[in-house]
Amino acid sequence: MKGLLVFCALLGAALGKENFVGHQVLRIFPADEAQGALVRGLEEMEHLQVDFWKSPRQPGSPVDIRVPFPSLQAVKVFLESNSIQYDIMIEDLQTLLDEEEVEMAHSRWLGRSTDSFNYATYHTISEIYAFMDALVAENPGLVSKIQIGKSYEGRPIYVLKFSTGPNRPAFWIDTGIHSREWVTQASGLWFAKKIVDDHANNPSLLNSMDILLEIVTNPDGFAYTHTSNRMWRKTRSNNAGSSCAGVDPNRNWDAGFGGAGASSNPCSETYRGPKANSEAEVKAIVDFVNSHGNIKGFVSIHSYSQMLLYPYGYTTARAADYQELDALARKAVDALSSKYGTRYQYGSIITTIYQASGGTIDWTYNQGIKYSYTFELRDTGRYGFILPANQIIPTAVETWEALLKIIEHTQQNPY
Ligand SMILES: [Zn+2]
Repeated sequence: MKGLLVFCALLGAALGKENFVGHQVLRIFPADEAQGALVRGLEEMEHLQVDFWKSPRQPGSPVDIRVPFPSLQAVKVFLESNSIQYDIMIEDLQTLLDEEEVEMAHSRWLGRSTDSFNYATYHTISEIYAFMDALVAENPGLVSKIQIGKSYEGRPIYVLKFSTGPNRPAFWIDTGIHSREWVTQASGLWFAKKIVDDHANNPSLLNSMDILLEIVTNPDGFAYTHTSNRMWRKTRSNNAGSSCAGVDPNRNWDAGFGGAGASSNPCSETYRGPKANSEAEVKAIVDFVNSHGNIKGFVSIHSYSQMLLYPYGYTTARAADYQELDALARKAVDALSSKYGTRYQYGSIITTIYQASGGTIDWTYNQGIKYSYTFELRDTGRYGFILPANQIIPTAVETWEALLKIIEHTQQNPY
């Protein structure tokens, strides 16, 4: 085991993978608005290269940051000299990444059947694309694969369509728009298999409505998390005039675009891009949704924080369907918790986390897709984005319970 770890670390280094030796994830507890402002200020200190895993929210809620080894001392001195409390959540990020890599190396998919696919491990984009082909081949009358566009680097962008008849309304689910949120793509794979398996016993789910599932919503970013930098969040597009690549695809939609809650700095993790829909990965969905014209529910899945959110993020104005969305969120969260007791918060984006402009579900809601939601899956920060693979299936199982509530409500309440 130890030898293999060393081998993997060396292999990673040899392949030019970013290493995170000595990087720590700190959980910070700003006591008041003034301390919150100081913590937010860390993002402006670009030389420190602090990566916000959980951004500042309301006073009283913790902030998680990844701090590179060379900046650790400066950041800790900054916090301590301002009397800001913090804990070390992750001592050495690379140790977790090495364990993750060893676990993946032990569980390669050798077969080409979705029955022998290992849903309890993380997979590369080529394995996920092979999985989709296998699922389509095994279920020709039920599952089809639609290419909705191409990524910035030219990768095909695929949506799986689960359908039992023509011209149906549809319910959309996407995972992985932020590439480092690996439990989301992994859950998407499990959902795909679950939909097919359940259909054999209980065909009612697909009686009146199709399900559309985009598992790898940010293909370039996802490939990059495997080959180069596990912590990559954004797309991989070039930013003119900047050495920093990528746009935050959850700030790039045409809903409050450019407003507060997104950055105009190409080096920021929340960079909104030069204009709305500048990202091929976003534009592909926009075009698809518009040409489909009959999508009734839209769920975009992120991690981590354990939250179920509905519009709006860019404005404090309440969504017109606020009461219905809130009641349904509560039902969904209750169903989720009933599995393993996992606790979720729910509410509108702006009241539950923070102001965010240019987000996916604000746009879909404004297009008239009433049942627009975002999930933040497990956990609450113990592992953050490096959720151990043994939590993939429990995460997918509990999330599916919540999704079913939203899908069934959408089917039963035509509009
Ligand atoms: Zn995300």
